[in-house]
Amino acid sequence: MNLILLGAQGSGKGTLAKNISRDFGLVQISTGDLFRESIAKKEKLGLKAKEYMNRGELVPIELTLKILNERISKPDCKKGFILDGFPRSIEQAEALKEVANIDYVINVELPYEECVARLTTRRTCPNCGDIDNMTYEGYTGNCRKCGTPLFQRDDDKPEAIKTRLEVYEKTTTPLINFYSDRLFKVSSLGTPEDTYRPVKDFLSNLGRKK
Ligand SMILES: [Zn+2]
Repeated sequence: MNLILLGAQGSGKGTLAKNISRDFGLVQISTGDLFRESIAKKEKLGLKAKEYMNRGELVPIELTLKILNERISKPDCKKGFILDGFPRSIEQAEALKEVANIDYVINVELPYEECVARLTTRRTCPNCGDIDNMTYEGYTGNCRKCGTPLFQRDDDKPEAIKTRLEVYEKTTTPLINFYSDRLFKVSSLGTPEDTYRPVKDFLSNLGRKK
């Protein structure tokens, strides 16, 4: 089973992906991480992607797909994968058809103001990268994993958040229409568990039918 996860930053999409990945044995794939891994391993395709990134250019779709195709051909993806951060346009979605069949697209919905609220209270550990939120129970201002004082990333400040969410909205709306025949919508207004429950039920019932 191959899934795409759509959802603005701050929508809780990352946590949802982790839960699905754990329970259904699907590999979580973000193209950003894919590039970083491939470059770190000095793989041919990764190094090629790096040339574009170094020039401040977008990595061409064909190259992204080649890297993605290599990743999803690995044995750990036998049960399927969850794509996060790709595709970001109709053009990419069309091209993705060449390398993978997407069964369902899960759209995590959260009102704009709530995304902003969650992102502005988000704090990051400069040491291990762990993310916490000032509104979460037990928040101390120090990292829960390594104890380092947390900070607010520049792109978690209100102006940057506004820009990011607007860009997201613009790029994602056409994708939601593109995948309307395989779309599953879920609201993340409640707790992470509230968000996951309907998704888990939906995906579990699919398994039973097959
Ligand atoms: Zn830490």
